[in-house]
Amino acid sequence: MNARIDFDLIVIGGGSGGLAAAFRASYHGARVALLSAGELGGTCVNVGCVPKKAMWLAADLSARIEMAARLGFALPAPVLDWAQFTTHRQRYIANIHTSYMQRLDTAGVVLMPTHARFTARDTVVTDDGVTLGAPQILIATGGRPRRPDIPGAQLGIDSDGFFNLCSAPSRVAIVGGGYIAVELAGVLQALGSRVELFVRGQRLLDGFDEDLTTQLVADCLHYGTRTHFGARVTALEAVGQRIAVRRRDGVDDEPFDSVIFATGRLPNSGDLGLEHAGVALDAKGHVIADDFQRSNIEGIHAIGDVTDRIALTPVAIAAARRLMDRLFGGQPDARLDYDNIATVVFAHPPLGKVGLSEAQARARHGDAVRTYRAGFRPILHALADSPQRSLFKLVCVGDEQSSEERVVGIHLLGEGADEILQGFAVAMKRGISKRDLDDTIAIHPTSAEEIVLMR
Ligand SMILES: Cc1cc2nc3c(=O)[nH]c(=O)nc-3n(C[C@H](O)[C@H](O)[C@H](O)COP(=O)(O)OP(=O)(O)OC[C@H]3O[C@@H](n4cnc5c(N)ncnc54)[C@H](O)[C@@H]3O)c2cc1C
Repeated sequence: MNARIDFDLIVIGGGSGGLAAAFRASYHGARVALLSAGELGGTCVNVGCVPKKAMWLAADLSARIEMAARLGFALPAPVLDWAQFTTHRQRYIANIHTSYMQRLDTAGVVLMPTHARFTARDTVVTDDGVTLGAPQILIATGGRPRRPDIPGAQLGIDSDGFFNLCSAPSRVAIVGGGYIAVELAGVLQALGSRVELFVRGQRLLDGFDEDLTTQLVADCLHYGTRTHFGARVTALEAVGQRIAVRRRDGVDDEPFDSVIFATGRLPNSGDLGLEHAGVALDAKGHVIADDFQRSNIEGIHAIGDVTDRIALTPVAIAAARRLMDRLFGGQPDARLDYDNIATVVFAHPPLGKVGLSEAQARARHGDAVRTYRAGFRPILHALADSPQRSLFKLVCVGDEQSSEERVVGIHLLGEGADEILQGFAVAMKRGISKRDLDDTIAIHPTSAEEIVLMR
């Protein structure tokens, strides 16, 4: 057996969280080994946020070109050369990989591009048979798409497969009602597919305010996406080159060219040898981590999508940095506050939220909840006679018109929502009252001004 190589910290997984942890720990002077089976940057950089946003931008451009043509610009109907666009997208991603490699090198982090498994509480072994030890080990192995266990599931693809597409399939079924389903639907519809969304429940996007998700369904319909609620897909069947979607209610749809499953994600905890370290998992396989990202085993920590916390890149990064500040930076109380984390669904138009939905606020505060809404058409859409509408909503608690009337939720559906929300997330983190918004002078004419003008 090879001799064990010792470090201060071993990070397993080179995605958003793992990289952030490695950089911060080495900044504090720790000797760090980073073991990563996949491409650097993990899900976010390779099959998540980054390529998704690139595709969203392509879709957004396409919609704007159409609007410009309607307003009098002499432009042909937009047709995307998907392969050319993918080259630009992948070049951008390759640059991120290069930048990470350089930064790791500069930071002195030992990178091993390999799969890792625990063999003991403080020991891991790589696929190449290298044994490493450390008093602190971080599990940051992320997650992967989950496919339903139904006949013919192999005929469909998942979000990873979406990024391998070379063109927009003519008719697409997307199974799922979460943010990945909604985002892929918007992109494909704008780039030329006819999309149908099959949602098991009766609404989209659990956790988002229902007024806005209802408006989003209407906005999607204007672009041509049809949404089927209460649609339980039971099987896929090959029909020549196409795929039939079978449903529990017996409805058979015309076959599709592609079926995409966006039916949740599973944590990568199965082949980590966690049984050799005694690390506890929940029923779904997430590593159980407390507010300080500690597992049940001293010296073993977990962050990001492998835990059952909010599955977002900035959350994994922030949790990792605070954990490293605590372990190596002399900040014993450092931990991530998981409250009031803003998030955006890159739909068409985007949908963002920070804080509580009306339903969540009512469950917590009952009749003390008051809501304010602004529904409007942004100027560009009004000029182009596009039916797309924006809906902004505030959820407040406390005495009306008093400084005690606290804002507990801000919900934005509309163009620019993704960029507008960040500043309001800062305000929410500090704590604001409705009166603070009323006292703020609007920036006119913008969509954002609606937030300070609601009565
Ligand atoms: C389609 C899609 C779109 C998304 N869009 C957004 C968005 O717009 N904004 C946002 O904030 N978040 C988005 N996310 C979520 C975001 O990508 C994740 O929350 C984030 O990547 C989680 O980071 P992580 O470090 O926990 O794991 P990951 O980034 O998944 O990284 C884990 C790494 O660990 C490696 N690994 C796994 N097992 C082992 C092992 N045994 N040994 C060594 N290495 C291992 C994996 O190969 C991978 O490289 C999106 C996700 C998807 C799928």
